[in-house]
Amino acid sequence: MPLSHLLRSKGLRATPKRLSIMKILQSCTGPLTAEEVRARVADVDLVTVYRTLQSLHAAELAHEVRFKDGVMRYELSGGHHHHLVCTDCGVVEELEACDVEPLEKKVLKNSRGFKTISEHALEFFGLCNKCA
Ligand SMILES: [Zn+2]
Ligand SMILES: [Zn+2]
Ligand SMILES: [Zn+2]
Repeated sequence: MPLSHLLRSKGLRATPKRLSIMKILQSCTGPLTAEEVRARVADVDLVTVYRTLQSLHAAELAHEVRFKDGVMRYELSGGHHHHLVCTDCGVVEELEACDVEPLEKKVLKNSRGFKTISEHALEFFGLCNKCA
């Protein structure tokens, strides 16, 4: 689906800024911080980038991803997945499979106070081929 249709399907106007920010997210292989998005979009200030990313997230068009540095990163919503992050150069690899479900079941079984798990966040850290 074209990005403009995606926006409209969520009740958001397809403004040029929203579209260019979504295009940046779409063209990058890993999640981006608001700063990184701003550096790649012409004529947009950081506040606008933050607001746009938040509205995309609220409309479930973008995922929030947090690595160890605690900085919020965003990527377009696709299938649920995890990331492998190089602790040296910061390169990010998208992982396709998620094998966490058995672990969720175990966590719930061992929990004393929880009935359900609705989501999880899991990122892996290590050294890429170049940095190792
Ligand atoms: Zn690396
Ligand atoms: Zn990703
Ligand atoms: Zn998962």
